[in-house]
Amino acid sequence: LTKKIVLAMIAGIAVGLICNVLNTSQVLGAGVTGFINNYLTNGLFDIIGRIFIASLKLMVVPLVLVSLICGSCALSEGSRVGVLAGKTVLLYLVTTAAAISLALLLAIVIQPGAGMEGIAGDAAFEPQPSPPLSEVLINIFPTNPVDAMAKGNMLQIIVFALLMGYAISRSGKPGQRIAGFFNDLNDVIMRMVGVLMAFAPYGVFALLATKIASLGFDAILQLMKYFMVVLAALLLHAFGVYSILLKLLSGLNPVQLFKKMRPAMVFAFSTASSAATIPVTLSTVEKRLGVDNKVASFTIPLGATINMDGTAIMQGVATVFISQLYGIEIGLMGYLTVILTATLASVGTAGVPGVGLIMLAMVLQQVGLPLEGIAIVMGVDRLLDMVRTAVNITGDSVVSAIVAKSEGALNVETFNDANYSSVAN
Ligand code: ASP
Repeated sequence: LTKKIVLAMIAGIAVGLICNVLNTSQVLGAGVTGFINNYLTNGLFDIIGRIFIASLKLMVVPLVLVSLICGSCALSEGSRVGVLAGKTVLLYLVTTAAAISLALLLAIVIQPGAGMEGIAGDAAFEPQPSPPLSEVLINIFPTNPVDAMAKGNMLQIIVFALLMGYAISRSGKPGQRIAGFFNDLNDVIMRMVGVLMAFAPYGVFALLATKIASLGFDAILQLMKYFMVVLAALLLHAFGVYSILLKLLSGLNPVQLFKKMRPAMVFAFSTASSAATIPVTLSTVEKRLGVDNKVASFTIPLGATINMDGTAIMQGVATVFISQLYGIEIGLMGYLTVILTATLASVGTAGVPGVGLIMLAMVLQQVGLPLEGIAIVMGVDRLLDMVRTAVNITGDSVVSAIVAKSEGALNVETFNDANYSSVAN
């Protein structure tokens, strides 16, 4: 299945590129181009892709709820919830701060905005007001679990599931019966994810063909330097920083992790949504990396909600780029402020396409840069969003493996086993 998914990705990109070229060059005439647009990229592929995303999203709430109730129940028996949560959140924050520092460093050295001051003139951007911090904190606590599930509010679902799991573990016989029920339900839901995974190659192909067909390569060419710096920082962080962290903190082989996470990365890349990818990330981390459900069920949904290293990288480079475009020096204090606010912004960024760009407003505002700058980088954000989402979920899996190893909840044999089972099993 992994091979099929990767092949589907390559085929999707190739078909998307062909449609893109046919569209922009119009060599086949308006009739054929119109046919491709109406019936293929915006027709069939779009429909398949959207149904596929819908079926992934369908699994997110039941999977997170049930899986985390089981996990928190197992954790509470050993009274490790607090320790686990502490370690996880700390690692998420540290990796994000490292990501943005790396991004700032690269951008300051390479200066992607130098000599491009001319394009700053005519951009316009309507900022959306961001909610105050107190509101964000209060909103973590659900008033109504059904409402939280209906809205897919991940943090509220996490709080509810943790509480429920804890209570189950403290409820004696009735608790055991309920735990048995949830454990069985968890197996069934995981099987549902497995069933859907069989359709993954078609979904991935269709999504990528549609997305790549409508990419504006002109804009990317114009902002090539910015684009390349973000991309370089993303790759450096994913393959450099994560490898070092994994090796240093847990002694695990990073190559194994990257190999096994490949299908989840392809999903993240094609959906540009960490939240929609949760079912795949969770099952990959549990089945292929050998992370116990009691750790993964907490770290993965939490990570998809608050840990966005790739997003922070984009925000770091974009801030430096915009400051260069407008010729505004933000200084050392400014950079430190960017590290702090982008880390917080990453916590507040929902795992859906394009939100990282909206949260960039918060960072720019903090250091007094014009929000119009967002309109300039917006043109090239689609492709970067896809790549950074893959980095975001890779970061979640790295932290999960590190935390699991330190808690004795990692099956090292599974992690190192080259003949790993498929994500669908
Ligand atoms: N699309 C990203 C994600 O889901 C968030 C963002 O950077 O816009 O992880």
